[in-house]
Amino acid sequence: MIVNTLFLIAALPFSAGGLASLLFGKVNRQISVPGLLFHSVIPGALLPNLSCYSTKKFEHLIALLKDQNYQGVTVSSRDKHLPDKKSVLITFDDGFQCVEEYALPIIEKFNFKTTIFCVTGFSGKKSSWDIYSNNRHLDNNAIRRIAAQGHEIGSHTSSHAFLPYLNDTDLRTELATSKKTLEDMTGCPVTSISFPFGGVNRRVWQYAQQVGYTYGTIYRDHKKISSPDLFPVYGVYQFESVENILHKINPQNYISVSRAVSVLLSHFSKGTPVWRLRDTYQNITY
Ligand SMILES: [Zn+2]
Repeated sequence: MIVNTLFLIAALPFSAGGLASLLFGKVNRQISVPGLLFHSVIPGALLPNLSCYSTKKFEHLIALLKDQNYQGVTVSSRDKHLPDKKSVLITFDDGFQCVEEYALPIIEKFNFKTTIFCVTGFSGKKSSWDIYSNNRHLDNNAIRRIAAQGHEIGSHTSSHAFLPYLNDTDLRTELATSKKTLEDMTGCPVTSISFPFGGVNRRVWQYAQQVGYTYGTIYRDHKKISSPDLFPVYGVYQFESVENILHKINPQNYISVSRAVSVLLSHFSKGTPVWRLRDTYQNITY
């Protein structure tokens, strides 16, 4: 009896978590300026290149963000937004040519700004790590053009190395060389960095700051490091619907305690089954 009671007490937090999960799905923490990370945007993106996103869905997403009063801000101007607007970071890792060809006309059409993280050792060349992609990287002239349009050019290192594995000398070279190359190329300060393969730890970030980076993007829910100057971004992949992405980045779609209680009470008062409550909640649009 005592053993059974202890077991029930120990299981209570898990049961409560399970019930909450059953009712509302996974509850994510709210992020002040949500961020999206794209790689390539092309018409009719097809398997097996999961990091491609289709032009049609991309335009639909940006249009909906605009409708929801979002403005697209760059990483370094993240906090300088109009007071009556919500901000979103639209970022591109690797700096592929398709971004200029297909994504930027849409970004410009909706008057957003974006940040493109370029790999300086691959300007104008094909990628050596994205095996399914036939994309070339932006060449120097294209990078200059994009910077002149007011978009931010950030660093994605010189060789797309996994930075935590590098010794101190190589790490510093990857960080500093790419920064200087992009600054010389564009005439603009390069203050932000995206870490290839999401590879960042405390040592990498310290070196990045030492060579002059102010901001970085990291994968959402990165467990190794957190800093107010490292902004979480949500990687977007081909199979994801526009609605799914909006749901993840829009804080209004996150459940609050007061909203949860009001939804619960209203449904219980009508006598509807609990599991149907969950379906109803998930179909609410804001
Ligand atoms: Zn990359």
